[in-house]
Amino acid sequence: LVARMQPFGTSIFAEMTQRAVAADAVNLGQGAPDSGTPPELVQWAHEAMLDGRNQYPPFLGVPELREAIAAHQQRFHGLAVDPAQVLVTVGATEALTASILALVESGEEVVVIEPAYDSYAAAVALAGGVVRPVPLTLPGCELDLDALEAAFSERTAMVVVNTPHNPTGAQLTREELAAIGRLAERHDAVILSDEVYEHLVYDGGAHLGPAMVPECAERTLTVSSAGKTFAVTGWKVGWVHGPQPLVDAVAKVKQFTTFGVGTPLQPAVAKGLALPDAVFTELAATHQRRRDLLVEGLRGVGFTCETPPAGYFVIADAAPLGVTDALAWCRAIPDEAGVVGVPVQAFCSDPAHAPTLVRFGFCKPEESITEGVRRLAAWA
Ligand code: PMP
Ligand code: GLN
Repeated sequence: LVARMQPFGTSIFAEMTQRAVAADAVNLGQGAPDSGTPPELVQWAHEAMLDGRNQYPPFLGVPELREAIAAHQQRFHGLAVDPAQVLVTVGATEALTASILALVESGEEVVVIEPAYDSYAAAVALAGGVVRPVPLTLPGCELDLDALEAAFSERTAMVVVNTPHNPTGAQLTREELAAIGRLAERHDAVILSDEVYEHLVYDGGAHLGPAMVPECAERTLTVSSAGKTFAVTGWKVGWVHGPQPLVDAVAKVKQFTTFGVGTPLQPAVAKGLALPDAVFTELAATHQRRRDLLVEGLRGVGFTCETPPAGYFVIADAAPLGVTDALAWCRAIPDEAGVVGVPVQAFCSDPAHAPTLVRFGFCKPEESITEGVRRLAAWA
């Protein structure tokens, strides 16, 4: 294995899912829904296969999907996007990795707000870049703007943002995004925005991405995917859009990472993005109920937790239950309690940032959440 990948172990999600399977535990770990795919999407993919759409797609994505993504951005976020500025990728993951490989030179720096999704640092390492972490306060999820400014330097090529945020469910505010935009402009850095939870916003809130904020718009690459919105995480259909020169650079890399994305899945996702508003609001309403069930249940067990405004996850502090190391605890409870969660320290370069915090997912049927909580209560 090349030296730059040696610091990376098995992804925490793969590890915890293996433990869940081995212990037959309730898996509140990996952020993967196990139901909820709109049946029409499956039908549309099937029809595309039967129609013979089974060969290589255009590497930029099939035109109807690129058009549907542009129309989706206008309809939901008021963004005018030319389909020529949209690139279809193998999940959000390829969009993120190809963007980093295309735009970060070896030795350049990437500002990453932590806790952070695990693929960002790995992609920066592949590019030969250096992560400059900025810690979010926990559990309050505030961005320290002085720390953010201090993380930028003359070597900064990019800043990665993720809103709604995995693992905390926090949303960056307009002021925080504007501050990020001003710093990015001063340092001529690209803003790479991971918005895979854009439709999972609760309590009547709205999604706000940097492309929607004037200070950021002209230097932002917006990434999302069908995985969470349509409960098709296994389809791995994602996308990135932004200013043409940036998208062209990402497309150059994407040609050689995968070339194209599963052809028959693309027209199905295109039709999905045009489904009526009710499909999207129902997704959020279902997850809001699940969130409330999980938060109430975890508090009943004795965890301290806030109610997240968005996303798939609740952050629970296990310290009141006598836990001092969430990683060790998350490795023990599949067998001891029959439940799986993910330690937040796996998202942090410094484990001391979140020693006792555990992420539990609520992208599961209510019965699974209730059963998970029942088992945790029995353990405690
Ligand atoms: N970014 C974040 C914040 C995620 O939580 C995930 C996992 N769902 C991804 C990216 C990966 O998305 P995809 O499965 O579309 O590659
Ligand atoms: N995004 C999912 C999570 O945060 C996991 C994706 C994966 O398994 N790589 O749990």
